[in-house]
Amino acid sequence: APDPHKRVLILMSDTGGGHRASAEAIKATFELEYGDEYIVNIVDLWKDHTPWPFNQVPRTYNFLVKHETLWKFTFHGTRPRLIHQTNFAATGIFIAREVAKGILKHKPDVIVSVHPLMQHIPLRILKTRGLLDRIPFTTVITDLNTCHPTWFHKLTTVCFCPSKEVAQRALKAGLKQSQIRVHGLPVRPSFSRPTRSKDELRRELGMEEDLSAVLLMGGGEGMGPVEETARALGDALKCPHSGKPLGQLIVICGRNKRLANRLKAVEWSIPVQIRGFETNMQEWMGACDCIITKAGPGTIAEAMIRGLPVIINDYIAGQEVGNVPYVVDNGVGKYCENPNEIALTVAEWFTTKRKELAQMAENAWKLARPDAVFRIVHDLADLAHQKGLLTQPQALAF
Ligand code: UDP
Repeated sequence: APDPHKRVLILMSDTGGGHRASAEAIKATFELEYGDEYIVNIVDLWKDHTPWPFNQVPRTYNFLVKHETLWKFTFHGTRPRLIHQTNFAATGIFIAREVAKGILKHKPDVIVSVHPLMQHIPLRILKTRGLLDRIPFTTVITDLNTCHPTWFHKLTTVCFCPSKEVAQRALKAGLKQSQIRVHGLPVRPSFSRPTRSKDELRRELGMEEDLSAVLLMGGGEGMGPVEETARALGDALKCPHSGKPLGQLIVICGRNKRLANRLKAVEWSIPVQIRGFETNMQEWMGACDCIITKAGPGTIAEAMIRGLPVIINDYIAGQEVGNVPYVVDNGVGKYCENPNEIALTVAEWFTTKRKELAQMAENAWKLARPDAVFRIVHDLADLAHQKGLLTQPQALAF
């Protein structure tokens, strides 16, 4: 009997920069919208389906992130187009067979790549096996502005861009308008529902009700200068005259337990909560007035949905740097690395510069795309039904 299910294969690699978060958002939304009609598999092609040393890519990445100059070098080293294409061709020959097995065993009706290094080899495989016009291949870009050229491939069926800036880059890279859709960055569906009021959330989360609140975090791993910034905020948010707090601080340390333990040992002179990995980010963001974070695309897009002005204090070189102009140019926040300056900015936002904060919050609401993940999933579902029926403008483009 024919299989009643449609199958979606998401290619990701757990290298930070929001790839996992976006993959999981898409999977969760398929379940919400279509129940078990669609089977969604998330696969790390590098780790699961390539021989050594290629399966070391995610681990190498963690090493490179910790040694920033190396990562920069590697990332920008692949930047010139001709060079990276040759690299991919060479690597492709060795690993194509393994990767092909990895892809085809899932019998996908539609393939979704959420990683900048997952276009060239999979598309090559589809092409050499004559499957290009049978299995739609899509890319969901998780960089908000400037992004690495390996995101773009002319043979992709649809390229989902999170912003108009990225769409312009896609056009420049040679994609056709008909291949490009701009729905926004996919974030967890829980963010697209309205939350309760700020007062209610604050009561539930054990926060002070009448004190402005700043949220401080560093992605899922609690990266960046979180501790220094928290300490500076502890000082700056205490009124030098009255000794009363000007605001409260929530620090979400994600999976960084050491960071959480260190911060819990500090004696604070303002109301502070130190949290570990939280699963209800939509509520914490809804309860706060602004956010300080590294330039993770997921966190930034979520902050827009909750109308939170952003201070970016760090970025992963290479892949997150492009998210900085997204925040600054759109008037929804600032970039600043100095913990004392950051703390001063927040103190001003909570006292003399309330108007500036309100204006940035307004800009954030305007930029927000709460329904992005639903639009993307609906488009993907349509494409899955077109399997085998694609007319092939791609073939001409090559
Ligand atoms: N996040 C979370 N709980 C935490 C910390 C982070 O759910 O305690 C989520 C956050 O809301 C965002 C994602 O983890 O959706 C982080 O993605 P981002 O792109 O900001 O950075 P990454 O960690 O992928 O580098």
